[in-house]
Amino acid sequence: MDLANTENLLNYCLKNKKSLTPSRTLVIKTLSKYKRPVSAYELRDEINSNGDVNINISQIYRVLEFWIDLGLIHKVSAINKFFLCITPEEKHTHILNFCTVCEKVFETCNEKMGLNLKKSTAKLNLAFNNTRSVEIPVICPKCS
Ligand SMILES: [Zn+2]
Ligand SMILES: [Zn+2]
Repeated sequence: MDLANTENLLNYCLKNKKSLTPSRTLVIKTLSKYKRPVSAYELRDEINSNGDVNINISQIYRVLEFWIDLGLIHKVSAINKFFLCITPEEKHTHILNFCTVCEKVFETCNEKMGLNLKKSTAKLNLAFNNTRSVEIPVICPKCS
């Protein structure tokens, strides 16, 4: 799914019974231009740079939360930056392997990595919550 396409975003929102607002469209389209995780401040500056709109930082965070809840944007908590999901339809747990040196994200799912998080957490009598992504710090080949 191409997330920079307004029609796709609109359909995705409709499917989830949400509405697509101009700021929601703007935030996700701006984020889709980056190949790396970006901070909310960088996003705000980029969005406001053309002078047509003026979105403040709390609006940016609110919109980011909206898309995180819908699963189209991931937050890389360790570096407090945001990243467009590459596989929104993936039903397995989204795993964000992020390079601690260059911050590049290698997204995949737990199945492809052979990780059974449900089983591992059950050992501690905990129920795994599959609604959020999982971060793993790595060093990428370019940085090693
Ligand atoms: Zn994802
Ligand atoms: Zn790297």
